[in-house]
Amino acid sequence: MSYKQCTKCHCLKAVEMFRVGGNQCKECFSAYHAAYYAANREKIRASKAAYQTANREKKRARYAKWRAVNQEKVRALKAAYRAANREKVRARDAAYYAANREKVRDYNAAYRAATYSGKRVTLKSAQFFQLFSVKNKLKKMHL
Ligand SMILES: [Zn+2]
Repeated sequence: MSYKQCTKCHCLKAVEMFRVGGNQCKECFSAYHAAYYAANREKIRASKAAYQTANREKKRARYAKWRAVNQEKVRALKAAYRAANREKVRARDAAYYAANREKVRDYNAAYRAATYSGKRVTLKSAQFFQLFSVKNKLKKMHL
C-alpha cells in the first residue's frame, strides 16, 4: 500500500484516502468544500440558477435525447415513483383533472379515437399523420 502526505492536515494516509490527483485527503477536502459552500451558499445558488436559465434549452434537448435512448429506464423509473408515491400521484392527478376537466375530456376522446387506416395508433402519431393531411382517415378524431 502506498502513502501520501496531506498538504492540509499533514497526516500520512493511504493513497485511497485522496481524490485522484488531489493533494488534500478526502476528509480535509470535504471539510473545505462544506465550509466553502456554507460561506458562499447564496452565491453558489444564484450561479446555479443563472446557469440553469441560460442553458434551459440545451438541457431540455439533452434530456429529451436521453429519454429517447432510455425509454425502458424512464418507464421503470416512472412506475417505481408512482408505486412509491401512490397517494401523492393520485392527489396531483385529481387536482390536475379538476383544473383541466375540459382539456382532459378532449384529450381522452382524441386518444380513444386516434386511428390511422383503421388501426389504433398513439395520439402523437395520429397528430403527425394529421399534419400530413390524411384528415379523412382521421375523421373520428374530430368528433
Ligand atoms: Zn488531510
